[in-house]
Amino acid sequence: MRIEYDIKLGFKDVMIRPKRSTIKSRSQVTLEREFKFLHSPLLWKGIPIMAANMDTVGTFNMAKVLAEKKLFTAIHKHYSLSDWKAFLTDIPHEYYNHIAVSTGIGKQDSEKLKFIFQNNPSLKFICIDVANGYSEYFAEFVKQTRDQYPDKVIIAGNVVTGEMVEQLLISGADIVKVGIGPGSVCTTRVKTGVGYPQLSAIIECSDAAHGLGGQIISDGGCSIPGDIAKAFGAGADFVMLGGMLSGHEESGGEIVERDGKQFRKFYGMSSTTAMEKHIGGIADYRASEGKTVEVPYKGEVELTLQDILGGLRSTCTYVGAARLKELTKRTTFIRVNEQENTVYTE
Ligand code: 5GP
Repeated sequence: MRIEYDIKLGFKDVMIRPKRSTIKSRSQVTLEREFKFLHSPLLWKGIPIMAANMDTVGTFNMAKVLAEKKLFTAIHKHYSLSDWKAFLTDIPHEYYNHIAVSTGIGKQDSEKLKFIFQNNPSLKFICIDVANGYSEYFAEFVKQTRDQYPDKVIIAGNVVTGEMVEQLLISGADIVKVGIGPGSVCTTRVKTGVGYPQLSAIIECSDAAHGLGGQIISDGGCSIPGDIAKAFGAGADFVMLGGMLSGHEESGGEIVERDGKQFRKFYGMSSTTAMEKHIGGIADYRASEGKTVEVPYKGEVELTLQDILGGLRSTCTYVGAARLKELTKRTTFIRVNEQENTVYTE
């Protein structure tokens, strides 16, 4: 046994220090970024915020709204081939740069992925997603997928430490998804004791990825727009959101009415609810590692996006970053013991 005494930080442990700035207005800030990838020859341009591949977040309806605004959706893996066909006949080609097809690492998953890409060779992004990206088999699966799809952009995760980011990039990933345990409907830390505070995970993993020419996605733990700014400030290239995009018209999830108020179901992809829905229950050797919650219905996602993007532009003006790309360089975090004033709640 060993103990690391370095303090690891989460979003709530810091604030971003304001800096002298020449930017006159938030409207001067560009949130779009351009990326070249480590393996894929694709060039990507867009606002690097992503909807999570959860079936109550990363839906086709969410993808249409986010792609229209140049954001990104990792579409959940439970749509059928015919669902994909119907969706793809309904969208313009430029949206293909803003969606990923998600997959697990089972045999059936890779067969399904093959069919989706055979039928739709213009799709460009693959998101290989497992809760624990530390197994040797996972890295091997990433390698096989790279061999099979040399030109596609491959996202792989989740991990939280630099050496595993490097391993996945070397195995063929272009972008590594970072986060174990911070998610709003995640109970991994409760059930297993395993995890890593998200801000430190981003700082350490982005350093490892950028050293090799790869990118990272900060996945999980953002509960307010300020957390997204902190994730970018810490070095994330992309930020993935689950809970913040749940509960909307486009999110999916059963609608429940209570005392005249509407709620939408939102659940972790390893929750009992998800496992009963998609694989007929929980296998007897494992525990649920996700929550099922009801979130107040939030209406159309467009307003939430405006709030998020407006907040991010404002962060950039506070530190003098004319482009989102400059935010990390201009970020100084200060350690704090307080966050927002909670005397009144909206
Ligand atoms: P949020 O933005 O809601 O804080 O986090 C979203 C992320 O939580 C997802 O992208 C995914 O990585 C993670 N997640 C989703 N479902 C589950 C689950 O059932 N268990 C765990 N451990 N993590 C989950």
